[in-house]
Amino acid sequence: MPYLDHNATSTLRPEARAAMARACQIHGNPSSVHRSGRVARALVEDAREQVARLVNANPANVIFTSGGTEANALALWGAVHGSAESGGLVRRLYASAIEHDSILGTMNAIAVRATGIRRAQVPATRDGAVDLDALRDLMRESSGRALVAVMAANNETGVVQPIAEVSKLVRQHDGLLLVDAVQACGKIATDFAALDADYLTVSAHKLGGPQGVGALVMKEDAPFAAQIHGGGQERSRRAGTENVAGIAGFGGVAKAIGDDNISRLEMLRNVFESGLRNCFPAAIVFGHNSQRTANTSNFALPGIAAETALIALDLDGVMVSSGAACSSGKVKPSHVLKAMGVPDDLARSALRVSLGWDSSESDVDATLASLGKLGTRISARKAA
Ligand code: PLP
Repeated sequence: MPYLDHNATSTLRPEARAAMARACQIHGNPSSVHRSGRVARALVEDAREQVARLVNANPANVIFTSGGTEANALALWGAVHGSAESGGLVRRLYASAIEHDSILGTMNAIAVRATGIRRAQVPATRDGAVDLDALRDLMRESSGRALVAVMAANNETGVVQPIAEVSKLVRQHDGLLLVDAVQACGKIATDFAALDADYLTVSAHKLGGPQGVGALVMKEDAPFAAQIHGGGQERSRRAGTENVAGIAGFGGVAKAIGDDNISRLEMLRNVFESGLRNCFPAAIVFGHNSQRTANTSNFALPGIAAETALIALDLDGVMVSSGAACSSGKVKPSHVLKAMGVPDDLARSALRVSLGWDSSESDVDATLASLGKLGTRISARKAA
């Protein structure tokens, strides 16, 4: 059945499955000194190397987490609490208005629980990118050190963000930069060292790895404060016995990923979007003027509620999403489209098709056929 919801969770790659199956044969705790413990430790450290290599980082500064959400929270709380301990106090939190809820929600929580923190959302342009002029204005305010969170690519529209420019701005003002690369990693070049970010976050299940495992990558000297205490795991930065099988799966997928699939996905996405315009000449593709990740198409079929289209597609066995992955099922229009100035009624008909490593031409054909059927049915209803 066509599964075109890879930005929500990608299908498990065989390399990840095999690595997890191998890890499940091991019964040792990576902190134990006996043989089984050492084998488990080796699996975790091999995976750390693979993930570090994937994003060009130092393995010592890769912290495994339960996913992108926790990695984002760890970076944000770490910057605020860690900077209090290390000087250069973070007083301002700025995030683009199109960030994932895990960033925006954590920032809200910090503003409530930590004193003296100012927070603001940086507006987005109509094309779905963070507004650099607005960020520049915010950075000029001189009321303490700022942490800026801008994602590398948006989960809903796929729009690739101008991280190089953001990074330059942040450096000019001695700020800290958090790049959520959850939707970018594996789809566009994601080079932690070249981005000159202080923190970068990734999640295995968006890449074809298992759910429930991700990583925070940080600079050695970035402010940090552990949020979970207990054992000395992850160099005392995140206590708790490691998710060995999940981490091994993450390492397996990190090793397997190359950029060989990207042009194929872009070709499939283009086939999809031209087919879409044939079925629905009024269809609007969001972010189409911007550079996008090759796998993502977010579009509205004006006059057709997203839920109607989702149900029709689902009845034909086609799985796509409306709005953001993590809020699938919610009826409220997407905050990303809102930030791009899309009116609510149009945003309510937005659908997202996101392709993945195993997507095929027949998946695209089946999706277009189902959308075509829906279009015909709706036109017939209108004509009656
Ligand atoms: N950041 C972005 C951009 C995402 O798309 C997601 C998930 O959709 C997350 C963070 C959260 O990642 P996880 O599902 O691993 O918690």
